[in-house]
Amino acid sequence: VNAEIVAVGSELLTPFRQDTNSLFLTDELNQLGVEVHFKDVVGDNREDLIRVARAALGRSEIVIFMGGLGPTEDDLTRECVAETLGVELRRDPEIIAALYKRFAARRIKMAENNSRQADVLPGATVLPNANGSAPGQWLETDYEGKARVIMLLPGPPHELKALFESQCVERLRAKLPPLFIAKRVLKVAMMPESECDARIAPIYTKYPQVQTTILASRAGEVQVHLQARAESTAEAQRQVDELATKLEDELDQRVFSSTGESLEQIVGYYLEMRGATLAVAESCTGGLLSQRITSVAGSSRYFLGGVVVYSNELKSSLADVPAQLIAEHGAVSREVALALADGIRRRCSATLGVGITGIAGPGGGTPEKPVGLVYVAVADGHNPEVVERRYPGDRERIRWWASQQALDMLRLKLI
Ligand code: ATP
Ligand code: MG
Repeated sequence: VNAEIVAVGSELLTPFRQDTNSLFLTDELNQLGVEVHFKDVVGDNREDLIRVARAALGRSEIVIFMGGLGPTEDDLTRECVAETLGVELRRDPEIIAALYKRFAARRIKMAENNSRQADVLPGATVLPNANGSAPGQWLETDYEGKARVIMLLPGPPHELKALFESQCVERLRAKLPPLFIAKRVLKVAMMPESECDARIAPIYTKYPQVQTTILASRAGEVQVHLQARAESTAEAQRQVDELATKLEDELDQRVFSSTGESLEQIVGYYLEMRGATLAVAESCTGGLLSQRITSVAGSSRYFLGGVVVYSNELKSSLADVPAQLIAEHGAVSREVALALADGIRRRCSATLGVGITGIAGPGGGTPEKPVGLVYVAVADGHNPEVVERRYPGDRERIRWWASQQALDMLRLKLI
């Protein structure tokens, strides 16, 4: 079954407002097994609206119009849909009464034009709007000989959501074949989207019944979304799990979560499980790593703390990096990253220490040490590790990459 969503409102054609309702509706429809084939955004203009309505009703079995149900002259959705269907609107006395009541409750006089909100398509079911004055409408009808379900919904997002959930979902479900959905998300660290796709495409293309979507998330994270539909929950789950297992085998240690956790949560789980503690010394990330680690509730059980050591003096005085080492190799170097990691680890008597130093830009780069050059080190007292990376992007992105790299190194050290 295919659907089309028509967002009505001239403000949605400006740079200041965006149609977000359709994202919510698409998710809801997908869960019912309905695919959205078209989305339209149209201004408050009679001719344009009728043109879009004709096209939508011509090609889609379910058509949802939203917005333009208010009382003002530029709210044209009801009339234009009526005109497209070749029917006359009927003014519903019950809605009028409800409108009067609503206004009376607020002790304001109802302006005459509010009555327009009581105009109903013949044969339509009125969908009361608990959060606003304009009710929605549900109509099952024929358009050029084809069966159609038409919904008119209010534009304000909280009204639309409440109304759709409370009154449209069940009506739709009753008209559709029974369907159950299972989902899984594999989160992949530090692998480019293209490489991830190249590795897993040969596998997931063999499972056409599972819908696979690869989404680049924040820098250093790719998500593989899997969704299957079947006549029972168990069957949908089985299909998703079977593919997830195959993909996890292929991506191996690059997958850090398949049940929703963030990278900082996963690192936290492992630290706690190993009874390990962590301290960090950050330069170019300026505390971002600490911020991410402490965003997880309960992180005090494994995170001791850290220092932001921007100046060379503080690198020495707070993380015990020998001044000689900085003079010899420069603050942004493999050696200093390692010294930061081990220095803070010893200072704090932690199991693990992290050191990050780099050039986040936009200034400060040189040909030998360009903007984006970052060294990340993890020290555990036995096998210190350090990586050199050259990250693309602006200051924020480079800082994020560096914190992501540190978390991923910690994860790999702990698994
Ligand atoms: P009202 O009775 O409030 O006038 P309405 O059905 O006429 O309801 P609109 O006037 O079209 O709704 O929109 C009301 C508000 O909802 C506006 O602030 C608008 O920006 C917002 N809105 C409308 N459509 C959408 C949409 N598709 N996505 C997100 N916001 C929307
Ligand atoms: Mg309006």
